[in-house]
Amino acid sequence: MRVFYSPLHTQHNPAQEVYDGVPAPYAEVPGRVEAVADRLRTDNIELETPSQFGLEPIQTVHQQQYIDFVRTRSEQLAADDILFPSYFMNDTYAPLTRGTYSAALGAVDTALSGAQAIVGGKRVAYSLCRPPGHHAGYNRMGGYCYFNNAAIAAEYLAARGRVAILDIDYHHGNGTQEMFYDRDDVLYVSLHADPGVAYPYASGFAAEVGRGKGQGFTRNFPLPKATTGDEYIETLQAALGVIAKFQPDFLLVSVGFDTHQADPIAGLALRQEDYHDIAEHIVAAELPTLLIQEGGYNVELLPELASTFLQPFRKL
Ligand SMILES: [Zn+2]
Repeated sequence: MRVFYSPLHTQHNPAQEVYDGVPAPYAEVPGRVEAVADRLRTDNIELETPSQFGLEPIQTVHQQQYIDFVRTRSEQLAADDILFPSYFMNDTYAPLTRGTYSAALGAVDTALSGAQAIVGGKRVAYSLCRPPGHHAGYNRMGGYCYFNNAAIAAEYLAARGRVAILDIDYHHGNGTQEMFYDRDDVLYVSLHADPGVAYPYASGFAAEVGRGKGQGFTRNFPLPKATTGDEYIETLQAALGVIAKFQPDFLLVSVGFDTHQADPIAGLALRQEDYHDIAEHIVAAELPTLLIQEGGYNVELLPELASTFLQPFRKL
């Protein structure tokens, strides 16, 4: 397993989000990834600095005006400014700060370096991305996400083979689904909290299965509140069955640890040991696998959860 990490993410540190119209502390803090990085170093896992891929891969999934907007508005801000723009946004959970653009670019390079490693023959790569990406749409930021790291890496891989995306974050990856909804060469399969009661509310229902030639190449598995590890694994097996039938050349996993029972913003009931089981099932798919970090907000627990999850991948 190769692991990629960029320190640029620390430049993105908004003071607040707006929850139900009320300012609240920002849950997606730099400490999330710093705590995981420290733990991996303690586990004697080497963290590699990503290569730079430039803007071209980002342009394969995002609108040019949107990319320009994130860059120019972000870079125009003063050090302590925070901007909730009126354009190009889905919700009030992804404000811009001066460091947002360079951090988002670093996250994309982190994801692409992982993709490059598995294209080069490595069985598993883990991209410790921050900010996360799976809620970012073609021309919209939202849900702590700006550029869709997973979708950009999936495009990179799709130029070299069939790609299955497995999204195991607590939240539905509405941005990633949108990017590939009409496509039959990239399969999107997601396990997430029932959007009837959880963010992003407007997508992730089981009836959403793709459109046109993409019909059947999107699959959603919404889960009820307080779903346990055993119930989760049962659904994961069904999801992996869908992936096996697709016969992909690459598996990309959007990994979220906000499915844990003690996550402060979520509502499933997974325990630490469940992440080891989840990883073993993913390993059993026997595919070149790119793991991309998405959510997970219990900063104290994240290092343990990441270390537990990565353990079955370490020998690969
Ligand atoms: Zn999430």
